[in-house]
Amino acid sequence: MKRKYLLIASVLVLAFTNIQAQEIIAHRGFWKTAGSAQNSITALMKADSIAVYGSEVDIWLSSDGVPVVNHDADVTLNGEKLLVQDTPLATLRKVKLSNGETLPTFEEYLDAFAKCKNIKLIIEFKSHKLKEREDILAAKVMDMVAQRGLQDKVEFIAFGLNFVQQARKLAPKAPVYYLNGDLAPQVLATMNLSGFDYNYGVLYNRPEWVSKAHELGQKVNVWTVNKPEDIQKMIDLKVDYITTDEPLLVREILQKK
Ligand code: MG
Repeated sequence: MKRKYLLIASVLVLAFTNIQAQEIIAHRGFWKTAGSAQNSITALMKADSIAVYGSEVDIWLSSDGVPVVNHDADVTLNGEKLLVQDTPLATLRKVKLSNGETLPTFEEYLDAFAKCKNIKLIIEFKSHKLKEREDILAAKVMDMVAQRGLQDKVEFIAFGLNFVQQARKLAPKAPVYYLNGDLAPQVLATMNLSGFDYNYGVLYNRPEWVSKAHELGQKVNVWTVNKPEDIQKMIDLKVDYITTDEPLLVREILQKK
C-alpha cells in the first residue's frame, strides 16, 4: 500500500514539474564554448549537444535574394562595413566568423539543423528597409523549412510587425513571437500570435504581463538573460522560456529549484 501511495505521489510530482517546466534557448547558438562563434553552424550543433529546448538564429536576405545568417545589419570585410541586405551573396561569403567558419547561408544552416536530434530552431527575421524584401525572405524561409519537413521543429520571432504577421499568415500553426517589448498580451492575442519574447527588463516593469499572457493561452519568452539574479527573477516570474548566452548556468539554476 505504501508503495502505491509513493507511486501516486511521484506521478503527481512529475505532473507538477511538467506544468512548471521552464525551457532554455541558446541565444545565437551555444557559442561561449571552445571552437564556437555566434550564429555559426558549430554553435547550432553545440546547442544540440547540450540538449536545450532551442537554438536561436538571426537571418537576412542578401541583395541578390539569398537568406543568410548574421546578427548585425552589417559585416566588416577588409576593414569596410557592408550592409548585409545591400550586399550580394558572393561578397558575403568572403566574411569569416571568429571561429574561422564562412558566414553561413540559411540553407546550409537548415541542412545542419536537420541533423540535430534535440533542439528546435528559433528563427529571428531581422527588419529590412523594404517590406517587399521582408516578404520575400519570409516566403523563402518557409519554403526551405517545408522542403525539409521541419515545420514542427521551427519557431519564428521578430521585432517587426510585418514579419510576425507574414510568419503567422504563411505558417498558421507555427509558434510566432513578437520581440519589441511594447505590446500587451491582449494586443498580441488580436494578431493571433503565440505570445511575447521580450527583453527581461520589460518584465521588471510589467510582471503582470506573464500571468495575463498565460490566461490568454500564450507563452512567454525573455531575452537575453545572463546574470544569476536576473535568471532567478525570470524563473520566479514563471516565464516559459529563457533565452540566454549562458545555457549551462540557466540549467544549473533551474536544477537547484
Ligand atoms: Mg536574435
